[in-house]
Amino acid sequence: MSGVLVIMEQRANAWNRMSWETVVAGQQLAAQTGVAASAAVAGHGIAGLAEELAHKKLEKVYAVEHDLLGAYTADGYTAALEQLIRKVNPAIVLFPHTYQVRDFAPKLATRFNQVLISDAIGFRMESGAPVFVRQLFQGKLNADVQPGGTAPHFVSLQAGAFRADQVEDGSAAVENFAPALDASAIRAKPLEPFRESARAVDLTAADIIVSVGRGIKEKENIPIVEELAKALGAELAASRPICDSGWLPMERQVGSSGQTVSPKVYMAIGISGAIQHLVGMKGAKTIVAINKDANAPIFEVADYGIVGDLFEVVPALVEEVKKAKG
Ligand SMILES: Cc1cc2nc3c(=O)[nH]c(=O)nc-3n(C[C@H](O)[C@H](O)[C@H](O)COP(=O)(O)OP(=O)(O)OC[C@H]3O[C@@H](n4cnc5c(N)ncnc54)[C@H](O)[C@@H]3O)c2cc1C
Repeated sequence: MSGVLVIMEQRANAWNRMSWETVVAGQQLAAQTGVAASAAVAGHGIAGLAEELAHKKLEKVYAVEHDLLGAYTADGYTAALEQLIRKVNPAIVLFPHTYQVRDFAPKLATRFNQVLISDAIGFRMESGAPVFVRQLFQGKLNADVQPGGTAPHFVSLQAGAFRADQVEDGSAAVENFAPALDASAIRAKPLEPFRESARAVDLTAADIIVSVGRGIKEKENIPIVEELAKALGAELAASRPICDSGWLPMERQVGSSGQTVSPKVYMAIGISGAIQHLVGMKGAKTIVAINKDANAPIFEVADYGIVGDLFEVVPALVEEVKKAKG
């Protein structure tokens, strides 16, 4: 029993982008443990996706194809992937920590008398074996989790924990795998996918975003950053606590449970730079951070950083922008 198996996620024949982050994790884990990484994609009509995967540095690509996998169901995916894992015998199975994975992966792990080590932010090697790191108490503590007992072990990875652009190219053989599925064993009957109503604000289309965090202290202070957004012709966005408190609407939240944005300029004002926020904005071309704590993690991704009190810096910036615009 050896090797790393990455379970990809697709919907309607389009990848969930977190799948590629998981491939990177799989490639790195395999390289460090001296084994091979393979990947699997499940669904109906997924030959094209498997072909795309075959151009990555993987030992094998498994195309898990069945009519009953056309629409996602926990029962269908669990049965199909259980059969694949029993055949492939990997030591570690990696998933992207998506909503779909949260739905079926614990059930799948249980089929092997295992637990899911969920939402890991990375791993390191100790005596030749991987130790996975999970955050506790909203990131205040890191816990090390070392899988014990017999393989396979099941691990899901947090969005943004690995960089999709580091995926290594190569070539892999595609193997078709047809699971034996019984329609009567699939208890859920999928309906049309839920469609979100058109968003009032499309942050993903904004060139400049001024984003505010808990450093703003109270709702009454929001107009201070709003003024900067207005002066710059930017959209206003926020970290999660601001939206959770109802100081700005949910649709303006950036991060793992909000929107993912990649504007030309992203200004993070009074935002510490928690991983769940970073995953939503680190694709911005230029990141400007204003924070009074010189050690705030946001400065690790910032191109320009101002260590200072936002209540002094932001009004001064507004004035300068207005002057520059005449
Ligand atoms: C499952 C899950 C999903 C999550 N999803 C998201 C998400 O989508 N988006 C998101 O943002 N978060 C998300 N979070 C929360 C995330 O972990 C952080 O708690 C959150 O991002 C912190 O927000 P913040 O940076 O505004 O606040 P804090 O972490 O409290 O940071 C405030 C910052 O302001 C600075 N500051 C204070 N006063 C001033 C001042 N006068 N001038 C300048 N700087 C000042 C401080 O130094 C500090 O760095 C999620 C968490 C979990 C567990």
